[in-house]
Amino acid sequence: MNAETSGIGVAPGVASGPVARLAAPPEPPADTGPEADPAAALERIKAALESVATELDARASRASGPSADVLFAQSMMPRDPALAERISKALSDGRSAPRAVAEAFASFRASLEAAGGYLAERAADLDDLRDRTLAELLGLPMPGLPDPGHPFVLVARDLAPADTAGLDPARVLAVVTEAGGPTSHTAILAKSIGIPAVVACPGAGGLADGDPVLVDGRTGAVTADPDPAAVQAALEAEERRRAALEAGGGPGRTADGRHVQLLVNLGSAADLEAAAGADSEGVGLFRTEFLYLDRAAEPTVAEQTETYRRVFAAFAGRKVVVRTLDAGADKPLAFVDHGHEDNPALGVRGIRMARRHPRMLDDQLEAIGAAAADGEAEVWVMAPMVATAAEAADFAERCRARGLPTAGTMIEVPAAALRADQILRTCDFASLGTNDLGQYTMAADRMNGELAELLDPWQPALLELVALAAEAGRELGRPVGVCGEAASDPLLACVLVGLGVTSLSMAPSALGEVRAELAARTGADCAAMAAAALAAADAREARAAVR
Ligand code: PEP
Ligand code: MG
Repeated sequence: MNAETSGIGVAPGVASGPVARLAAPPEPPADTGPEADPAAALERIKAALESVATELDARASRASGPSADVLFAQSMMPRDPALAERISKALSDGRSAPRAVAEAFASFRASLEAAGGYLAERAADLDDLRDRTLAELLGLPMPGLPDPGHPFVLVARDLAPADTAGLDPARVLAVVTEAGGPTSHTAILAKSIGIPAVVACPGAGGLADGDPVLVDGRTGAVTADPDPAAVQAALEAEERRRAALEAGGGPGRTADGRHVQLLVNLGSAADLEAAAGADSEGVGLFRTEFLYLDRAAEPTVAEQTETYRRVFAAFAGRKVVVRTLDAGADKPLAFVDHGHEDNPALGVRGIRMARRHPRMLDDQLEAIGAAAADGEAEVWVMAPMVATAAEAADFAERCRARGLPTAGTMIEVPAAALRADQILRTCDFASLGTNDLGQYTMAADRMNGELAELLDPWQPALLELVALAAEAGRELGRPVGVCGEAASDPLLACVLVGLGVTSLSMAPSALGEVRAELAARTGADCAAMAAAALAAADAREARAAVR
C-alpha cells in the first residue's frame, strides 16, 4: 500500500514497527435492569476478573524492579473476595452485570480512600482495573497502553500525560497521535523520554493494530506498509544524522564531503557572546541597524568604529558579513528621515536610503573599514534591498574606496534574483534574504500573520528565484549564501544546498540540527530534494515531496 500521511514531527528520530492502538476506556454502563440469571452473570464477571488478573501477572513477570512489584500488587485486587461480594450484592439488588461491576468498583474505591495512606494511593488503580474488567466482560478492546508482547508504534487519538510518562522506550518505538500540537504534553514528554513522536496526524485514525508503519519524528511523515528499502534508507539516514549530531561540530559538510559554510546571524550587541561561542565559521548576517534601534541621534563614526571593533574582536580569525543599514519598513530608525510613505516596504528603504543620505552610508563604511583594519576578522560587507546591477556596482565601489575589498549584495528583491548574473559581475558575493524575497515574490506583507501560508519559505516560486541566483553564482564562481529564516529549517537547508547555495546563516540554536541533516545527505540527495521541491505546486506539497 505504501500510503503516507503526515502530522507535526515533535520528537526527532525514525522508527519502524507494527501499530498497537491505545483503546479508549469503555463508556460508563447504563443500568439495563436485572440479569435473568444473576448466578450465571456472577460467574461471567468472576471469569473476566480472573482474566484481568492473569494478564497483570504476565506483565509483572516480564517487568522488573518496582514496575513488577506494582503490577503484582495490582493483580491481587481483582481477586479480592470483598470485591466479588459487592458485585454479588449489586446483582441481587437488580443491577445489570456491567452496572454491578461499575458500582462494586466504586464502593471498593471509596473504602480504600477512607482507609487512607498506602491503600488510598492505590484507589486510582481501581479505575483502570474496572475499565479492563468491563472491556473483558463486554468483548471490547482493552483500554490503556497496549502490550502486544513485542515492541510497537503506539497510535492514539490523544495521550494523557500519565500514559506518556509511563512509556518505556524499550517497548514503544514511536508515538503517533491524531490530536495534540507541538507544545502539547505528549510532545514535551516524548522528546524528554527520547521516543520519536508525531502529533496532529489526522491519518492516524486509519491505522489498525498490527499495521506496519514507518515514523519520522522530525519530518512528521507516517508511512503505512512501507517498502523495506525505504525503511532501510530512513533508518540509515537517521543513524548518520545521530552520529553527526553526537560527533557534532566543525564546518558543515554533506555526507560526500561537500563543504557548506555554516554561519550565524547576529542581531544585537546582547547576542554577541552567544553568537561568538557558537560552533560556526563566522557571521553570515550582521544586522547593523539593530545596534542603533534605540538611538535618537545618529552615532558618530568613532562610536560606530568602536562597536564594530568589539564584534570583529569576538570573531577574530573568522568571517563576518556586515550588512549596512537596512532602515525603513519593518526596521524604522528614529534618526533616519523616512518621511511619509503609503507603502514603506516598497519605499525608500535599505540601499535606497543611500540616494537620499549618501553620507550616512559612507560614514558607516568608513567605520567598518577602520574597525576591520584593526581586527583579525575576515570582513565582508553587503547592501540590503539591492534591485539593480547599477546599485550593486555603486555599493561595491564605495566599499573598495574605504578599504573593504569584499563587497556583496543581498538578494531579497525578485528583480535582483532574476538578474543575479549581472549583479554578481559587479561584486564579490550575494546573500539571499529569503524573508524579504518571500514577501516581495508573493506580494504578502511579512508582518501580516494572516498571510503565513504565502510567506512559507517552502514556496516553490521563492525556491525558483533562489535557484536562479545560485546558478549565476556557480557560473561566475562567486559565493551565494542564504541568510533568511529558510536556512534554519534543516530539511529546507538541504534543499537550498541542492539548489546550489554555498553557505547558510542562521540562529546559533539551529546550527546543530542543520549540520547533522546535511551530514546525512549526499550532494546528489540534496539535488534530488531540490528538484522535488521545485516540481511541487505549493509549499505544502513541496514539504511533503521532500519528506
Ligand atoms: C531577509 O530579508 O531574509 C533578511 C535576512 O533580512 P531581514 O530579515 O533583516 O530583513
Ligand atoms: Mg531583508
